Amino acid sequence: MSIQEPLKVLFLSAEVVPFAKTGGLADVAGSLPKAVRALGHDIRVAMPRYGRISTEKFGLKPRLDPFPVPMDDTTEPASILEGRIGTDVPVYFVENARFYDRDGIYMYPDDAERFIFLCRSALEMCRQMSWRPDVIHCHDWHTAIVPNWIQTIYRDDPFFHDVATLYTIHNLAYQGIFGYRILEIAGIEAYGFIAHPDVAPDLNDVVDLMARGILFADIVNTVSERYASEILTPEYGERLDPILRDRRDRLFGVLNGIDYEVYNPATDPHIASRYSVDRLENRWANKAALQREAGLPERIDIPLIGAISRLADQKGFDLIAQIIDAWMQHLPSQFVLLGTGEQRYHDLFESIRARYPDRIAAFLTFNAPLAQRIYAGSDMFLMPSRFEPCGLGQMIAMRYGSVPIVRATGGLADTVKDYHPLSGEGNGFSFEPYDAMALYTTLVRAVETYKYQDVWRRLIVRGMSADFSWERSAQKYVDLYYRAIATKRGAHRPEEYKILRHAGAGEARKGQEKCKITEWWREADESSCRV
Ligand code: ADP
Repeated sequence: MSIQEPLKVLFLSAEVVPFAKTGGLADVAGSLPKAVRALGHDIRVAMPRYGRISTEKFGLKPRLDPFPVPMDDTTEPASILEGRIGTDVPVYFVENARFYDRDGIYMYPDDAERFIFLCRSALEMCRQMSWRPDVIHCHDWHTAIVPNWIQTIYRDDPFFHDVATLYTIHNLAYQGIFGYRILEIAGIEAYGFIAHPDVAPDLNDVVDLMARGILFADIVNTVSERYASEILTPEYGERLDPILRDRRDRLFGVLNGIDYEVYNPATDPHIASRYSVDRLENRWANKAALQREAGLPERIDIPLIGAISRLADQKGFDLIAQIIDAWMQHLPSQFVLLGTGEQRYHDLFESIRARYPDRIAAFLTFNAPLAQRIYAGSDMFLMPSRFEPCGLGQMIAMRYGSVPIVRATGGLADTVKDYHPLSGEGNGFSFEPYDAMALYTTLVRAVETYKYQDVWRRLIVRGMSADFSWERSAQKYVDLYYRAIATKRGAHRPEEYKILRHAGAGEARKGQEKCKITEWWREADESSCRV
């Protein structure tokens, strides 16, 4: 391949909008490939054809007849259906009734097998189609086995041995930790467990798929710059910080974008009244419509605070629980929550809703159109996360003119700047310590500021005018794809990477000759890992 040709990228994800979504990973997988395609690259997505994905609704067409995929000491058949994201990004759906013909996406006892099958099928699919990617872009634990395979069982395979890998961590808290049997199912038992001298010893006797993605990928990134540096510390590193520190020379942070076609208040088909920064007066009808839908009194004088979230520990609901009574007693406002997740939070919000029926509405379900109505109808958007790799909610909220109230962590810190009443700077409200009182006082500041509608309008306009589209970040991903290729070829220092990227083939070779050949795996093997 000449390095100047368009890249061929296989993008592997467990969930992709609009086909299957539980969280931000699906948003990224449904929008980043479109932006990379717009930059001229041949990017194709692969995901499972879960039972809930209708072939009719999405117009999926058969692409490959069943072919055998190695699993354990036998094979399992996969067939491929093809669909599209937007008009021109192919999506390959791996079909297998045993693994995917179920109602849900995750939380099955054989999840490890299901996603190993996805990955192996996707690789073998490329061979079947004679389409060799330059880079395989893997996401989260579900597809983390791929870099491990490329460096082991596919290392001497002529079809795959040149293929580079980029591994994106969307959330370090979900690592995909399984037992020894998974090595057999994945066909890598000969390479054994991985031990790292500095990680907790119990991790040495299990298969931590995310750790393998980090160790074996040519380049690793996470979804904001702040989170990329936070995860190097024990506080945020989820016990993998020693491995991440070893890999810091290949670890990058790239802020997610949001899909400006899907999230556009000027064209959104799900909201009561469409608006833009030039037609802001049309926004208020959405607040009244939301209040009606939520069964709350129609009041324009008090702020309506929205939250849309997985109900998980990470998201800061324990802080909300601690302050809810003071909030309801002292801060004139309404609260509308849309979320689903852990049962204890369902119970919590049911009891809170029962205590304040005319102030709080809680929709304990997953509903994407309702989410858009909350973004459009709320005045403020609450995200007091304990940690937040990127967070899309705050960016979507700003796009819709809902002012974010966040804890300054990860991507929230990278996107929301605390409003300062004297300088007038800032685009939202934020607090640093993970502390209920800090959340409460930040709510006070927001509710007080809301009383001054000229100031509030400036905050709305500032959020709506910011650029959270994928354009800039997609180019950064393309740079990481080139960097992964350069690393794979043993030229991963930035200067050489630039020579490789911009030079013709001859000069690229010269560039490679100049640089140090980094056999990182051998180095890793000797210095830090036992395989
Ligand atoms: P995470 O990926 O940790 O769940 P993000 O903020 O990155 O958090 O992304 C969450 C995405 O999922 C946003 O698009 C948000 O609107 C959406 N979302 C979360 N919960 C729900 C829900 N119950 N109904 C509809 N959309 C939801």
